[in-house]
Order: sequence, then structure tokens, then C-alpha cells
Amino acid sequence: MRDFRRAPWRPVRDGVYVATLEPATVNVGLVVGADAVLLIDTGSSPEQGAGLADSVVELLGRAITHVVVTHWHFDHYFGLAGIPGVVSYGHESLRARLVGDDIDPEVIRRELGFDAADLVPPTDDISVVRAIDLGGRRIEILAPGAAHTDGDLCIYVPDARVVFTGDLVETSADPAVGPDSSLAGWSMALDGVLSGAGHADDLLFVPGHGDPVDAMAVAEQQAALASMWASAEDCFREGVTIDDVIADLNGPREHAWPFAAQHVVDILPHVYAELRRRGVTPRRGLPIASL
Ligand SMILES: [Zn+2]
Repeated sequence: MRDFRRAPWRPVRDGVYVATLEPATVNVGLVVGADAVLLIDTGSSPEQGAGLADSVVELLGRAITHVVVTHWHFDHYFGLAGIPGVVSYGHESLRARLVGDDIDPEVIRRELGFDAADLVPPTDDISVVRAIDLGGRRIEILAPGAAHTDGDLCIYVPDARVVFTGDLVETSADPAVGPDSSLAGWSMALDGVLSGAGHADDLLFVPGHGDPVDAMAVAEQQAALASMWASAEDCFREGVTIDDVIADLNGPREHAWPFAAQHVVDILPHVYAELRRRGVTPRRGLPIASL
């Protein structure tokens, strides 16, 4: 059995900590105020969440009082069930995931070793924005719109100049695009986060996975996402199939994609599906009249 009790918290700013948890190498955050202790994301299982709660008591001599779940993916959310008695925040769309088809009890039992019936919704839903006073320290929770999922939350700690982005930003790999992502919305969402926090040099962005980065690195990832969307849309409109794109990735007409070839192969079906959902249609060439 993995030892979930260990959470190697490392300070990143005054009263702000980050720990990185396996098996998903996910970052979780801790923001300490005079009256309250906020945990950002919860790990992959109730057991891991309980271990996190213990590790915070060990670190601070105080218990977690508030939790924000950045999005519904297992490595960020499933630990919440192991942290009872706290005020917890999630995007308003998260509750529906518990009763939909996205969470498969069989997979959870097999892969993560617990009963999906143990999962709990957050106590409070966020639709757009919420500020919380932790005692001498205000934090802001922002839902910047559909991006990595249809319900991502970012957490801004103004006095420490830190933004926790969830998987809106990843620095250990290219950003993960799935069936619940919106590549059309993603770069706009990052625009809102960057401009909301002031786009300044002293900002520290803690990604969902990977090392913290500055605003410039976030802007670079934003540009890559915008470029991916634009390139995919061009190909789709020109009637270029996914198979054609894949063939080109290794051929002489290599398209200038912003991500590693395998990542483009993996995410393009989701991007094409979004283009179809949005009603984008391939342009049809005019029939050539035979003279
Ligand atoms: Zn995710």
C-alpha cells in the first residue's frame, strides 16, 4: 500500500505551499491565513485526501478548514471524500459529474481501490467568482470559462502573487486535451486569468502538473493552445482528415503544430469533435465545369 501520509510540502511564497503527489504527479496547494487553512486540490483517493489532512496538521499544527477543487478529474477531486468537516468549493458543473457517465465505479475500484459511492460533492458551488477571507488574507476563486474541462477553477492569492491554475497550465507535459475540453475557450480563459492577475513579472503560477512558472511561460502555453486550435480549424475547413494530418506529421509536408507529434495525434480527435459541435463545416470546392 502506498504511503499517502507523506506530503512533502514545500514553501513557494509566504504562507503558500505546494506538494506533489503520486500516482498522478499532481500539484496540490496550501494557503495559510490567520483564521483558516485552504487546501487546493485533494489527490486521487479518499485515503490520499485523509493523508493530506494529516500532513497539514503535522506541518502547521492546524487543520484544513477550506478546500477548492480545481476540476472534476480524479487526481484533483477524489481526495475530497477523505477530508470531512470542511467548507469545500467546486465549479457548479462538478456535481453533475457524480451522477453522469464520466465516473466509472468499475474503473475506480480497479485502478484506485475504493468505492465510487464514497465520493462527495463540494459543499459550495461556484459559477463565476468568489472571494474568501482566510483571516488577514483574501483569496479569489475564478471560473474563467470552458478550457481544460467545462468547469475549471483558478485560485488567486493577491498578497503572495500566486495563481493556482489547475490543469489550465501544465509544465511537465503538453496540456491535456480530452473530450470534456474546449480548445476554443482555453486561450480566452488563460487571457482572463493572466489579465485578472495583472500579467506582472512577480506572479508565480502553480500548474496542475509540473514546476511553477512565470506569466511569460503561461502566455507561451496560451499561444500554443491558440495555435493548435487555429491549425486544426484550418485543416478541418480544408477537408484534411485526421489520418491525413497524422501522415503529414511524419512526412515531407509536416504541419507546424505547436505540440509534440504524438500529442497532436492524441488530441486531434477531440479538437475535430469540438469543431463539429460548433457547427464548423469543411469548405466544399466548387465543381469544376468540364469544357
Ligand atoms: Zn485534469
